Amino acid sequence: MWKILLLVLVSVGAALWVSMNTGGFMSEDHCEDGACGVPSGNFASGRAEKVQLTEAQWREVLTPEQFAVMRDHGTERPFQNPYWDEKRVGIYVCAATGTPLFSSEDKFKSGTGWPSFTRPLAEGLVGDEVDTSYGMRRVENYCVDCGGHLGHVFEDGPEPTGLRYCMNSAALEFIPVESVEGIPAAVKAQQEVAAKRIAELQDLAGS
Ligand SMILES: [Zn+2]
Repeated sequence: MWKILLLVLVSVGAALWVSMNTGGFMSEDHCEDGACGVPSGNFASGRAEKVQLTEAQWREVLTPEQFAVMRDHGTERPFQNPYWDEKRVGIYVCAATGTPLFSSEDKFKSGTGWPSFTRPLAEGLVGDEVDTSYGMRRVENYCVDCGGHLGHVFEDGPEPTGLRYCMNSAALEFIPVESVEGIPAAVKAQQEVAAKRIAELQDLAGS
């Protein structure tokens, strides 16, 4: 009996937390016909520096879950995504373009159920844009190469930045590295992988 009670308490706590932090919004399912003020499809294409595909083309290259998050601004469920509790050493790259975005060195346990970082891997990779959807003022993050939505950044993170980049696992791909010393080399190698993937996407965009 007490186990059930505990489960209920934990569930209520988690639901309250989510509702406090996301305005109760869990997925696009609650948002009919884009009524929440978030245009779908090409919404992000204006800010993409390298890759601009049509909605149909994005649906070809992304999984439905990736599309829902990256192109339609969905938010995946907390604690039910691949990287919220990922502790291995490595880098996190854009699920669409392979662009290196975050390092395990900057990942911290936020307790939110989403992968959280104190900063991006380097400047100029993760874009910021004020997001006033759902009656809130938040700062949204996107991949500068494809404009794909990644998550939001909040000012309640730990040292050294005091920032909390709250990301969706669906927008990321984790590349494990042997050790912390290997991270710079992994970033360099991934930049080449990303350049190839971006070229492929540009070909698709042009076809
Ligand atoms: Zn990208």
